[in-house]
Amino acid sequence: MHELSLSSAIVNTVQKHAAGRRVTVVNLRIGRMRQVVPATLDFYFDFVARDTVCEGARLEMEILDARLRCTACDHSWDIEIPAFRCPACSGSDVEMASGNEFEVESIEVEEDACIAPR
Ligand SMILES: [Zn+2]
Repeated sequence: MHELSLSSAIVNTVQKHAAGRRVTVVNLRIGRMRQVVPATLDFYFDFVARDTVCEGARLEMEILDARLRCTACDHSWDIEIPAFRCPACSGSDVEMASGNEFEVESIEVEEDACIAPR
């Protein structure tokens, strides 16, 4: 039911920014670490969007690769194998550089305007 709560979050965010205008497209950026199944998200979004300005809107999902970044030398790399040590300097003080995103990048409303939420 992970995708159901994400769908509710999307609809809430989009409603705030749509200001009553009907939304046609919602552009999302989703990190791979979120393990979102696009078809499942579409399904729940359609359900949650019913009777809101998001009804009938299409989700456009950009899936971002998971990356780690070494805080010591700023090197960053894609996670393909579970290597949590920096391959450049062998440092172990690393942080998630990308892969954990879940954000509404922008929405498109009927007037053809594009609104960024931030
Ligand atoms: Zn490093």
